[in-house]
Amino acid sequence: MGAQLKDITEVLGPPWASGSFIGADGLPYLYAYGCLELGTCQAHCQTIESIVVQTDWPTMEWPTQEPGRAETFPGCPAYGEVLRALDAAGCPWEHYEPLTDDDQCAIRVADSGATFVFNTEDVPEPILCSVSVTGPRPRTHTCV
Ligand SMILES: [Zn+2]
Repeated sequence: MGAQLKDITEVLGPPWASGSFIGADGLPYLYAYGCLELGTCQAHCQTIESIVVQTDWPTMEWPTQEPGRAETFPGCPAYGEVLRALDAAGCPWEHYEPLTDDDQCAIRVADSGATFVFNTEDVPEPILCSVSVTGPRPRTHTCV
């Protein structure tokens, strides 16, 4: 968070895909490396303002620090699996009411601000849809 896209591409190589919406600078503001999505501010500095991991795919894929090489993981982790993993990592979490309603529930890891959203509709156990971190609103950086 707060890094510029060019700093990310130096480490991970060019994004594998980009969004179709463009910002004020004429560039896309959503970039993806497999299930890892980076949202940038809509100006030339392309500062990372959101990080989302889409987890509701049968197989998740995201980059390693070796440019062009991906790693894959089983997708759609269940609620219990996620909570056990957070507890095993000593990572405290709390229920997150703003994103909890009839067909989803959410938890939040206070230390990182990472929000975990689970689908609860028509499933025996909630399934993790996404994990996201977003920057402060209004944004705190000044576009250059
Ligand atoms: Zn900016």
